[in-house]
Amino acid sequence: MVNLKGLASYCQECGACASQAGIGPGTVAGLDGHVVDQIVEEVMRTLGKGPRDSCGENNGKPLIPLGVSNRHIHLTAETLVTLFGKGAVLEKYRQLYQPDDFAAKQTVTIVGSKMRSIQNVRILGPLRKYDQVELSTTDSVFLGIAAPVRDSGNLDGAAPLTLVGPAGSVYLPHCAIVASRHIHMPGKDAENLGVRAGDLCSVRLRGSKPTIFENVLVRVNDSWKLQLHLDTDEANATGSLCGSNAEFLGKS
Ligand SMILES: [Zn+2]
Repeated sequence: MVNLKGLASYCQECGACASQAGIGPGTVAGLDGHVVDQIVEEVMRTLGKGPRDSCGENNGKPLIPLGVSNRHIHLTAETLVTLFGKGAVLEKYRQLYQPDDFAAKQTVTIVGSKMRSIQNVRILGPLRKYDQVELSTTDSVFLGIAAPVRDSGNLDGAAPLTLVGPAGSVYLPHCAIVASRHIHMPGKDAENLGVRAGDLCSVRLRGSKPTIFENVLVRVNDSWKLQLHLDTDEANATGSLCGSNAEFLGKS
């Protein structure tokens, strides 16, 4: 078995990447993915690699757990039915780190220009009021489209893709974006860090290629847990793994 553990694209630790990549649960032969996750989490905790749920500190700099987002899709109920047939509902495959979010069992194929396509793109639930495909820049280039960097939910100028499911396909003229890097946080963490929703801040990743990211959008909601979201291009550029910690450096 190939060990892909060193790549953020294939990390399994937070549920924000491997399950969305459509590579299935767990890459450890013979073990169910959920069991692997529990073991990894327990080992990380024992080794003191946490905290994953709270805001720890390093030399006085608050720490933020990293979640790496692989390509994924948010769908409306209408599009789900078009792709998967009448009566289709999202089936839960795996809970994600953010309490309200889950990876669905269903995946779709996305098709860009020149018949370039990517299979097994994971749908994330719950359903939304709009269809949105979140890609890395590398994915966008591969598909032959020009997905713009946008905050999630802003599809202004978003690129076109065709989505193909087992029951049908749909052309979406404005659906594909590269999500802006952002931090999810509940109000108490925003207060601790001295930021508000909409602020831009800087964080440092200490992977094998240490990197400082600027203009990281602060998003605040009390139902969220503190977590930095980077896409696979960003995380792999730093050599950081999902579940590692970023240092909060202040507003940009
Ligand atoms: Zn996010």
